[in-house]
Amino acid sequence: MNDIKLALLGSEGAGKSAVLVRFLTKRFIGEYASNANSLYHKRLSIDGRQLNLEVFDPCSQSGESRCILEEPVDWADGFVVVYTISDRTSFLNAKNILAQIKESRRETCKGEVPVCLVGNKQDLCHSRQVSEEEGRVLSQEYKCLFQEVSAAENYLEISNLFTKLIRHVMEQLKHR
Ligand code: GDP
Ligand code: MG
Repeated sequence: MNDIKLALLGSEGAGKSAVLVRFLTKRFIGEYASNANSLYHKRLSIDGRQLNLEVFDPCSQSGESRCILEEPVDWADGFVVVYTISDRTSFLNAKNILAQIKESRRETCKGEVPVCLVGNKQDLCHSRQVSEEEGRVLSQEYKCLFQEVSAAENYLEISNLFTKLIRHVMEQLKHR
């Protein structure tokens, strides 16, 4: 049985918990306010392999998040970095987080780390502040996966994205 550890990062309110809960339960509940970090567990099977998935969902991730970031960077095998397409500040924060992940991993010599950049709240495209192209360009810069999603309206894209990320993590763990 493989153990896979993922961490969600991103601005407060970007939809980290909504995206995760959508993936784990197929549902969108609406409010996820929590004043504690949460660790979710799920058993799943991908490509015929049984996995123990653990996902760290921090309660808050404000701008100056370095100290919050350090722990999950050491702990996680892969990251989901979430921003909101209707909030440019959250996009800039995602950019910082990608840079921090890259830097921390270089320090710990863990090599390439699977990361997925997620532009959430695609349903709010009438008030979009970040184009899909900008998200794609940023993901190319950091060689990570990228997808715009709506935790409110879609399950399939989110599920596909987690599956892809988990596959990358499994590949990476083989080489360690
Ligand atoms: P977190 O702080 O990053 O965990 O963000 P939450 O998951 O708590 O979501 C923050 C707010 O955005 C909540 O009110 C959610 O209902 C809302 N939200 C999350 N995802 C979406 C989405 O895809 N579309 C819309 N319209 N709202 C969303
Ligand atoms: Mg949350």
